[in-house]
Amino acid sequence: MRILLIEDSARLRDLICEAIREIGWKIDAFETAGDGRSALADAEYDLLLLDLGLLDEDGIDVLRDLRASKIQTPVLVLTARGSIDERIAGLDAGADDYLAKPFHNGELIARIRALLRRSPVTIMPVLEFGALQFDVASRQVTCQGTELGLAPSEKSLLELLMRSGGRVLAKSKIEHAFSECQ
Ligand code: CA
Repeated sequence: MRILLIEDSARLRDLICEAIREIGWKIDAFETAGDGRSALADAEYDLLLLDLGLLDEDGIDVLRDLRASKIQTPVLVLTARGSIDERIAGLDAGADDYLAKPFHNGELIARIRALLRRSPVTIMPVLEFGALQFDVASRQVTCQGTELGLAPSEKSLLELLMRSGGRVLAKSKIEHAFSECQ
């Protein structure tokens, strides 16, 4: 589960990254639309959190270009622009949902989960291995129906191993995956 955040406020970037990492998801955060565009070109993301008032360009243009290039990554717009017209403009440009600032972290996470659930691509599956089940959306790990109390980092490691489909993973690869989510 990897999220891209484009937001020019350093304080908000830090708060959002902290909230996302706390539940064991990965997030890459960028200050400018330019850096965000490069990241989108380089890596696959499950969801984009997009501020509209950015330093170098309007987030709406990033969104339009994304949709024009047929990239269907779910986009949750985060913005202080709260008027109905502006919300409609965001949704018309291809946003999947809209969250007005200031928002509570709990609402942000809930909106992300809701978007991922209705995403056409099954990117939040329930991973299974023997009696073990890992619900990627809720981060719940169960064994024969009993929930296991694992730390977020343990869940991330387990997810990586379960997604590897039984292949042996080199220590360096695991370390790389973990350094990416730092
Ligand atoms: Ca802004």
